[in-house]
Order: sequence, then C-alpha cells, then structure tokens
Amino acid sequence: MAFSRRDFLTTAVVGSLSLTLQGQQSKQDLPQAAGSGIPGKRPIIISASNGEPYLEDAFGMLRGGADTLDAALRVVRGPEDDPDDDSVGLGGLPNEEGVVELDACCMHGPTRRAGAVGGVRNIKNVSLVAKAVMNHTAHVMLVGEGAEQFAVAQGFPRENLLTERSRKIWQLWKEYQSDRDWWGPGPADPKFQFPTPPHSEVWRERIRGLQQKAADLGIAPEFRLQAIARVLVPPTGTIHCSALNAKGEISGCTTTSGLAFKLPGRVGDSPIIGAGCYTDQDVGSAGATGSGEENIKVAGAHTIVENMRHGMAPLDAGMDALKRIARNYNNDMNRLKYVDMTYYILRKDGVYAGVSLWEGYTPWPWEKPELKPHRIAVHDGTRRLEKTVSLFKGYSQDFPAYPNLRPELLKEIPSKD
Ligand code: ASP
Repeated sequence: MAFSRRDFLTTAVVGSLSLTLQGQQSKQDLPQAAGSGIPGKRPIIISASNGEPYLEDAFGMLRGGADTLDAALRVVRGPEDDPDDDSVGLGGLPNEEGVVELDACCMHGPTRRAGAVGGVRNIKNVSLVAKAVMNHTAHVMLVGEGAEQFAVAQGFPRENLLTERSRKIWQLWKEYQSDRDWWGPGPADPKFQFPTPPHSEVWRERIRGLQQKAADLGIAPEFRLQAIARVLVPPTGTIHCSALNAKGEISGCTTTSGLAFKLPGRVGDSPIIGAGCYTDQDVGSAGATGSGEENIKVAGAHTIVENMRHGMAPLDAGMDALKRIARNYNNDMNRLKYVDMTYYILRKDGVYAGVSLWEGYTPWPWEKPELKPHRIAVHDGTRRLEKTVSLFKGYSQDFPAYPNLRPELLKEIPSKD
C-alpha cells in the first residue's frame, strides 16, 4: 500500500512548540537529550542520516584524541566518495547543463576559523577543499573556477564526477523538461502555479513517455522507476556533521551537490557560513539539510546557535528557526507543504536535537511501504538513528510541484519496448 502525502497534509497544523511536543510527538519519541534537560554525553557526534555508516570510525577518532573537525570530515567524506549517493560528491546529480557542481563549508571551533567553497566542478571532496581554504588562505570562501584551481594547487585530483547512472538520469530529465524546472515561479512567488489535479490522464501519459525514453536511453529496467522519480521530483540531499570531544571542543561541516538540475551557478545554503553550518566554540554547532533558499533567508544555523547562546535549549532553538521559515510564508500551508528543512543541533555540553519542518517523507515505490521519518544520526558511545521532532504534523510534498502519482508509478505502466 502506498501512502499519499496529500492524505497526511489534510491534518497538518501549524504547531506551536507545545503543540508539537504534546500533540504530535509523545515524550518517549523525543530524542534522548533533545531539549529535555537530560545532560548530554561527551564525546558525541551527530549527522544527517546518510552519515550514520561512518559514525563508528569518526567516534573512534574522537576517542583517540583526533581533532573535532577531522572527525566530522571523516563522516561527510563517506557520502562524498560514494558514487551511489547521488546528492553529494562523486555521482551527485548535475545542474541543468549536466555538470556536477558541489558546495561545502566547515567551521573549526577551537581556532574559531571557517572555510567554504561554492559551485566547484571536477573535485570530489569539497569538504576537504573547504578545510584547505580555512587552513591555507586568508579568505573564507572561494567559488567556481577559482575554487577548482585552488583545489588543484592544493593537490586535489581533478576527476569526472558525473557517473553513468547520474548522466542517464540527467539525460532523461533533459528530454522531459519544458515548464517543470527550477526557472520558477517557486512556492515563495505570488505567481506560483499550483499543480494540476492528481491522477490526471495527462500525467499518466507523461510517465508512460518517460518509461519509453528511459528504455531508449538504455536505463536498466530495474532502475527505471527510480530514474523517473528523480526526473519528476529532483531529489535533494546533503550531509551535515557536528562533532564534540571530551574537552568540549566542537566543529561542524556540511557538503552537498545541491538541488538536482539546478541552474548553473546556483549556490544553496550548504556552503554559506551561518546558513548550512555554524559553529561557535562558546555555544555549540548547527547544520541543515533541505530547502536551501528558505534556510538562507533565516540564516538557519546561525539563528539556532544564537538562540542557544541566549539560553534556549537545542530543541527550542531549532523550532524557532523553523517557525521563522513558516513566518516567511505567512504560515500559508498551501505553499509551505512544498518546503522542508531539517536542522541538526549540538550544544557544547553534549545536548543535541534533530528538528524538521515536516515529519518526513513518503517512500518511493521500490522502498518499503512505510512512512519515512526525518532522522538524525547520533554516536555518543551508542550509534543510532533517532526521529526528528517536527514543527508540522504530516509530510511535505515534492517540488517542483506535481500531482501525487506514486500509486500510478506503482502500477507498472508498460513501456513500448
Ligand atoms: N540544502 C541543500 C541545498 O539547497 C539541499 C539539501 O539539503 O537537500 O543545496
């Protein structure tokens, strides 16, 4: 059985924090230390869920006395090196011209320094390039060609980041595009066009056409539904990681290939110090994944760290940033359902929180038919994934907007080959 995001959205409410805690999540669902006053542990490392496989190594590094930024970078390098993670580093889905452009930043708490790179082509480990900017220049941020040249000068190899898998998905997307790209208007625009009704024959025909094109492009039958899903709903994906050692030193970093099929030169929140990541040795660290444009407008990571500086618990600090995103839409749920944001928050005493605008996402047809919550990966001696605490009850809808056709995708519309 497939679940519809629409069904869940009908019950969505703009929750105040108390509503969220009492109405949407029981206390026992809360992450162990998220705003509950339970003292945190040190060392501790937190990340987006795709960092979970790499936490063991990084936690070992922290225990062994490694620098907190190096431990955090160990985590984010995992997805950067993985050709099958199509949201970060090698194999990241490209921009609309078929070129992979990566963004990353890092902050080193103990020395109070930062480095960032945006729109970098041909270099896989941009998180390490961000660290090199921090260590080997008097600047904080390099972008585009200059960042690539700097990386090469620092000994990073130039390599082709576009895997065959990602290239074919991009080609399929390219064949499909006209008015369904990132050229806007987006949900924040007054002229935003809400999607045509679901289950329309038009959309069935579009998917049928995509199946034929996917076959013509030589996309393997077992991967076609996944490829089509990525075309209909360009995926997002990023990894943030914050690490705190026993001495109380703290660092953070974030890396991404950004939005799939974005306009060339588009830079999201991930490399923006204060949006995709912010670390202050006196307070703590925060990072983000999700709708980058919205996060930039509320300077999310910085807002959260400042909230904590002024006494808010990590959970409250994150909820406040999410409410600012909602405020930017005048709490208009018809638009906010196309926006999503997750924050990963770690205070200097080891108390942490994972918060998100929505509870999670619905599975794709090839996944187990269960609702997928947003999760935060944690290692403080025990490695685990915990559900985030969400501001709204329900699940966001995909953007660019399209009718909910997942049941249609499930129906195996036969291609003509
Ligand atoms: N925040 C990233 C960006 O906007 C995307 C993501 O996290 O999925 O580039």
